[in-house]
Amino acid sequence: MTIRYHAHEETLLRCAAGTIRPGLALVAATHIAGCPACRDRLADFEAIGGVLLRDAAPTLMAPDALATIFACVDAGTSETAKSEGTRLPSRVVPRPDGVVLPKPLRHCEIGPWRWIAPGVHISKVGAPQAGGTQALLMKIGANRNLPRHGHVGRELTQVISGSFSDHLGQYGPGDLIELGEEVDHRPVVDAGGDCICLTAIEQKMRFHGLLARFMQPFIGL
Ligand SMILES: [Zn+2]
Repeated sequence: MTIRYHAHEETLLRCAAGTIRPGLALVAATHIAGCPACRDRLADFEAIGGVLLRDAAPTLMAPDALATIFACVDAGTSETAKSEGTRLPSRVVPRPDGVVLPKPLRHCEIGPWRWIAPGVHISKVGAPQAGGTQALLMKIGANRNLPRHGHVGRELTQVISGSFSDHLGQYGPGDLIELGEEVDHRPVVDAGGDCICLTAIEQKMRFHGLLARFMQPFIGL
């Protein structure tokens, strides 16, 4: 199967310049680890513009934070190269409860699943560097949905397993969905089974409706 949704150019530029926030960087790195196309584009940006961009933009991460994250990516490169064009190859590692996670998450502290709504569980993922945007694993059951919401800042979501849809498309394992704050959406998990995603938001979600706003403190974004 082919990855259909990739990192935006701006995200790769920010990765190259080291100006992407840690939580977003972890989501991007998880995608890049499994996507030869984005790895190649990132290498191009690093070659031609990383230094210039670093001089031009404020640094949001510790100098070695991105290097730490991308060391995880590099660790998975040789394995992913063997299986280019496929989804979720052997670069994945098991989680104690049976959920299989991509290699860039191996060095992260991952919390237990917490119930926040019927069919919806979250697990906080500590980025290798303290501070910055919180990354979350979300596990949502078949046919379940998140309430309609927007975001303050960009939202990056990497599909680990399963699939979901919104009014903009359908997303499967390996896809990276980037949404700007101008987009409101209501993600619905497809009927095949649980969907597990890694997600991070530049600032926070904007939920609509009383029930949804009740969920926000539990999500923590
Ligand atoms: Zn990609």
